[in-house]
Amino acid sequence: MNPVSVLTQPFPAVAAIGPLRRRLLPGLAGLGHPRHVALTFDDGPHADATPELLDLLDRAGVRATFFLLGRMTEELPEVARAIADAGHEIGVHGYDHRLLTKRGPAATREDLDRATAAITAVTGTRPAWWRPPYGVANTAALLESRRLRLRPVLWTTWGRDWTATCTPDSVYRSVLRKLDGGGTILLHDSDVSAAPKCWLAMLGALPPILTTCRARGLAVGPLAEHGMAR
Ligand SMILES: [Zn+2]
Repeated sequence: MNPVSVLTQPFPAVAAIGPLRRRLLPGLAGLGHPRHVALTFDDGPHADATPELLDLLDRAGVRATFFLLGRMTEELPEVARAIADAGHEIGVHGYDHRLLTKRGPAATREDLDRATAAITAVTGTRPAWWRPPYGVANTAALLESRRLRLRPVLWTTWGRDWTATCTPDSVYRSVLRKLDGGGTILLHDSDVSAAPKCWLAMLGALPPILTTCRARGLAVGPLAEHGMAR
């Protein structure tokens, strides 16, 4: 199904992950193979959080998909490159972390073009995926993402790891609340649009999340291995 023809209005993330959206647009919701869970991180790269996360994923033998910000990629090119060099998948989150519905069509297109160009140049990887900030897109962005051959994808569960009060346990419980085989987990390796250092809670939650997935017989990996329907 062509998402551009369906999503002619801005769509809030809560609607996008609702039961109807899951049925109509399983790929957009991030629903994949029932024995696989896609692990995704938004808002990076970050000077402290990303290297710690890369270490953790390396020790766990897990690869993930990182939705990068263009501005942060330009500020921290060596960190962005380290993500790609470690074999993780690269996606586009946007140049700046701003709500697209507050922008006009030209500014929306420019943000996505600039982000994609910066991320491609720095990482040496042509991104295949796009996730708009806050999970909210508009028609201009959806059309531009198609032109750039970026596939939009949201998530099915998240850690709520952006709040000042989140803890490893709260992030773990939030992810597990809606974690099923075929789901896509959203976490953040940054605090650029969140409470300072909230990524520490994410780092504490990730090992038990991976352990639980393994105990349930679910493989964890990037979106490229999620087997999503077109
Ligand atoms: Zn974000």
